[in-house]
Amino acid sequence: MTGVCSVRVEDKLSQIVPVALDLYLRSTDDITVLRDAPWLNTQRVLQALAAMGTLMLCFAAWISMLRRRVRRQTSIIRTQLSEEARLREAAEAANRAKSEFVANMSHEIRTPMNGVLGMTELLLDTETTEEQQEFLGMVRDSANALLTVIDDVLDFSKIEAGKLDLDHEDFPLTEALDQIMGNFGLRAAKRDLKLACEVASGIPEMVVGDALRLRQILNNLLGNALKFTERGEIVVTAELESRSKDTLGLHFMVRDTGIGIPPEMQEEIFEAFSQADGSTTRKYGGTGLGLAISLRLVQMMDGRMWVESAAGHGSCFHFTARMGCQPWHTPPSA
Ligand code: ADP
Repeated sequence: MTGVCSVRVEDKLSQIVPVALDLYLRSTDDITVLRDAPWLNTQRVLQALAAMGTLMLCFAAWISMLRRRVRRQTSIIRTQLSEEARLREAAEAANRAKSEFVANMSHEIRTPMNGVLGMTELLLDTETTEEQQEFLGMVRDSANALLTVIDDVLDFSKIEAGKLDLDHEDFPLTEALDQIMGNFGLRAAKRDLKLACEVASGIPEMVVGDALRLRQILNNLLGNALKFTERGEIVVTAELESRSKDTLGLHFMVRDTGIGIPPEMQEEIFEAFSQADGSTTRKYGGTGLGLAISLRLVQMMDGRMWVESAAGHGSCFHFTARMGCQPWHTPPSA
């Protein structure tokens, strides 16, 4: 019976694929073996199918459990993230509100302080005793010091509240530098300090930017250099880093031969209300806000600010700033 069947299959196959038959069926016994295989029966096939089905069901259940777990975790993380974002936004809003409040308050204090200063100046011009003159002089100096602190706090709060915008106007850079140097000339001469300014060739006479804020940065750096230098020199340098069609990259340096800053304080002094030495305020005055404000202004000008210094060997404050320029802005003729 099996032989007949084998022959028939062979005949059939050889009609269809004679070559393949030679290749895949070595003899008709191969087919006989398959048909007579005792382990290949319906029950076994059903059992195998049932096992596979169970396996697949388990696999599907596992996948669905994993998916549920991932979904649950994702929703927890999403809730946490949105809560964090909400808290961050609330903190930022509170910070902005605080800075706005301080800015408004500082502004309100300035007006009566100017009244105190004006009246003191008037009183100083009247007939007073020497002692009264001395007292009034102290009132004027204290009022001036307080105004400086208030101005710093006002500027810092404005920057923190994102309310300070930079001007973008044409101004004569070399002339501005000359004026700044002129303002410090007398104080330097009184202390027998050499004061110099070097402007590299190639820097145009006119640039586009915020002259007031550039002046503020340089005033702060020069004021500090003068405050912390007993003897020697203070040199301001301006160099041209790059120039394209309408922008200039400028690099300013203020170098002094003063007390210097220890390495561990060279980053900290750029933070608000931070001074290199605890005794600085007592000895030299100041609020520790000047460099923090200058750094932020420099960053608003797309620049960087850093210091090179060694305690006892002077300091060199650097900052870069991007200014605008017009094609017809040329360096001053020598
Ligand atoms: P202030 O001068 O009002 O204290 P600043 O922010 O301008 O605030 O300066 C912070 C501190 O950095 C100063 O108190 C001082 O310790 C240090 N510092 C700044 N400039 C110099 C300098 N040229 N030489 C030595 N120390 C300096």
